[in-house]
Parts: sequence; C-alpha cells; structure tokens
Amino acid sequence: MDCLIVGCGLCGMVIARFLAEHGKRVHIVERRRHIGGNIYDFRDENGLLVQKYGPHSFFTDNIEVKRYIERYISVKDCYLEYVTMINGRSFPMPFNFKAIDMLYGEDKGSVLKEKLRRAFPEREVVSVSSLVEHEDGQIAEFGRFMYENEYRLYTAKQWGRPIETISPDVFGRVPVYLSYKKEYEPHKYQFVPENGFTDLAERLLDDERISYELNVDATEHLKLNEQNAAITWDDRPLTCPIVYTGPLDELFGFKYGRLPYRSLEFIWKTAPVTNSTAAIVAWPQAETVTRVTDFCKLPVQETPNGKTTIAIEIPFEYDPNRPFGNEPYYPIDNVKTRGLYDKYRQEAERFSNLFVAGRLGEYKYYNMDHTILNALKVAGKIMEVKNGK
Ligand SMILES: Cc1cc2nc3c(=O)[nH]c(=O)nc-3n(C[C@H](O)[C@H](O)[C@H](O)COP(=O)(O)OP(=O)(O)OC[C@H]3O[C@@H](n4cnc5c(N)ncnc54)[C@H](O)[C@@H]3O)c2cc1C
Repeated sequence: MDCLIVGCGLCGMVIARFLAEHGKRVHIVERRRHIGGNIYDFRDENGLLVQKYGPHSFFTDNIEVKRYIERYISVKDCYLEYVTMINGRSFPMPFNFKAIDMLYGEDKGSVLKEKLRRAFPEREVVSVSSLVEHEDGQIAEFGRFMYENEYRLYTAKQWGRPIETISPDVFGRVPVYLSYKKEYEPHKYQFVPENGFTDLAERLLDDERISYELNVDATEHLKLNEQNAAITWDDRPLTCPIVYTGPLDELFGFKYGRLPYRSLEFIWKTAPVTNSTAAIVAWPQAETVTRVTDFCKLPVQETPNGKTTIAIEIPFEYDPNRPFGNEPYYPIDNVKTRGLYDKYRQEAERFSNLFVAGRLGEYKYYNMDHTILNALKVAGKIMEVKNGK
C-alpha cells in the first residue's frame, strides 16, 4: 500500500483515483456500510434514485470540474427549480421578476422592475441585503418582504440560532434575480450523473490499484503518538501517506472539545405523483420543517408505479448519540469554532505523513465542485512528497 485513505466519500475517492492513475496502490477504509459518503444514492421501492443524505446536483462555473466528472461517467445537463411557500403561495426561489408580479400586480410591479433595472444597471443578480438597505422605499420594501418572510425565518431555523447571531455575510450572498430567470443555482454548468451518484462512486473506485473496506472505523485502529510524531494502525507503524477525511476532533479523541455541526433528520414518505414542477419546496413559516424534496421531480427519474418519494427535512443540532440528527452535516463556522478547529489542525500538522482533507477534515461546507478541486490539490501534494520534491 502506497497510501491509506480514511473515508470513501467524494474527496477520498477522487484522491484515490488520482494516486492510482499515477501508479500508486491505495487502500480506503470507510465506516459506513456503503461507498460514496454523502453523495450515496440507491433505487428505492418506488423505483426512484434517492439520495440518502439529501438531494444533490452538480453546479459550478468551472468547466474543469465537469470535464473531470465526464472522464468517468455521462452526465445530464439540468436546471433545478425551487420554490418557497409564503402565506400559502408558492414563490420562485431565488426571488425574481415573477415574484414581483405576484406580489405587486402589473402596474406597481412594472414600476418596481424598472426601478431595479435603473438602480442596478447591467446586473443580473443582486443580494437581498442590497435591496433591504436601498434608499428607494419600494425597493427596500420588496427586500424587507423577502427578508422577513423567507430568509430570516429559514436561516434562523436552519441554524437553530437567532438571526442576529448569524453572519451578515450570509445575507450578502443570498441572490435575487433581476429577470424572470428561474434556475435555483446561478452557476454556468449544472448537471447530474446520468445513472446516479453511486454509479459515479463505483467508476471512480474502478481501478485495480484501489481497494476498499466498509464498516471499518479508522479511529478504532489509528493511534497518533505525539511523542515521536508517528502513526500506527493496530500498533503497526504506518509510514505511508494517510489521508484523513473524517472529523478532526474525533481523530484526537476530542481533547480540546467537540466541533459543533448542524444536522438534519429526513422523514421519508411515499406519495402520488403531482403536476407541480418544483423538485424542492422551502417552508420558511413552518415550525420545524425547512424543505421538502419530491424525488420524482429531480432529473433522470422515472416513476414506474406512479408513486413518488418525498423527503421532509428537519434541522437539528448534531448529536452522535441520538437516533436522529446524528450526522455531522454543516460545520458551524464562527470565530470560536475556527479557533477550536485550528488547535486540532496544528496537532495534525505535526505528523508529516498525515493529510487532512474533505468537508469534515477541513471543517468547511464544500459543494462537490470544491470538494473535487481540493481533493485534486491534496492528491498533487501527496505525489510531490512521494517523489521527494
Ligand atoms: C444535505 C446536503 C445536501 C448537499 N447538496 C449538494 C448539492 O446539491 N451540490 C453540491 O455540489 N454539494 C452538495 N452537498 C455537499 C456534498 O455532499 C459534499 O461536497 C461532499 O459529499 C463532500 O465529500 P467528502 O468526501 O468531503 O465528505 P463525505 O461525503 O462526508 O465523506 C466522508 C466519509 O468519511 C467517512 N468517515 C468519517 N470518519 C471516518 C472514520 N473514522 N473511519 C472511516 N470512515 C470515516 C464518512 O463515513 C464518510 O463516508 C450537500 C451536502 C449536504 C449535507
């Protein structure tokens, strides 16, 4: 073995494949019962491809990411539609000119659209905060409607914290389209694997130099000896590069305390197929639910028995000891938690053959495009070390 990788998620698999294609033998250990990490999907009893850890779709502005994926599988270009339910009406997400028509009718709506075009010339997208703070009363009123009825409620529920404690940057990034554009994501390339994400995982692992084992929790075997900065596996020295894509606090026995995460519970239901077009519906005003995914509305789906699968999402604070909310999904990134993370990171850096990567290892929310690009960077670094550069 030339490299051991902990975690068979997208990050671990991309690193493994890169190293294998450069002639290295790689072994992956994964504690779940399946490959793919959070992108894992399977065909359920309704014949639908269901993503166990929440709906996924690729979106990126970087063509290299798309080319990378297409080396292994075929993809289908697709644009997801997303709506938000406010006072019993379904508004497009992000808000756009259709939302203005719905809210203000033709006359008042036309005035507002014209004002927006003049206030933000040549802009296709603006942030909600730039509207809330705008000097024109009508523009600011539109901004406040979105803020009060959607973003404030949704964000506080999603993060389980009062809105005042959440960085204003979050709102700085929330887009509003100054057109009738209705795609949920503004990115240039949007696509899904034609045969699902697990198929992508299988293709990435399909190299004779890659082997993997499931149901293996690395923290039960790895020991990091701080005295001599050496790592062992079941007391045998491990001198090859080790890539760790799990939570860093766990690797060090939580010695400085736990890194907090936000988690989700998914409630799964079977329902008849309806005519609605939106795959994902947000419920900002509901007490606990944030969003509902109708899997038959996602791309490349078929409904052989006329039924669909619905996933209802309820956010929770992450707690590994509970039967729900026990997956670490979203790092709670703030000054305090960054400080805690940095302590673990400094510990990790003392081990010259330990490479920390992935959304858990780096304690960052990464979309799949960033996960792939970062994984390729880490893989390049490992090759440099291996080649003695
Ligand atoms: C609800 C949700 C929806 C998302 N939707 C999108 C989307 O639409 N588009 C998009 O681009 N991105 C999306 N993402 C982000 C995407 O899931 C991540 O970018 C990607 O899965 C990260 O891959 P990873 O390998 O870093 O982490 P993971 O997929 O979490 O893989 C890490 C793996 O390591 C394993 N592991 C951890 N510790 C150990 C251990 N001690 N021993 C053995 N194995 C271990 C874990 O079991 C896991 O399988 C979404 C994320 C969430 C949470």
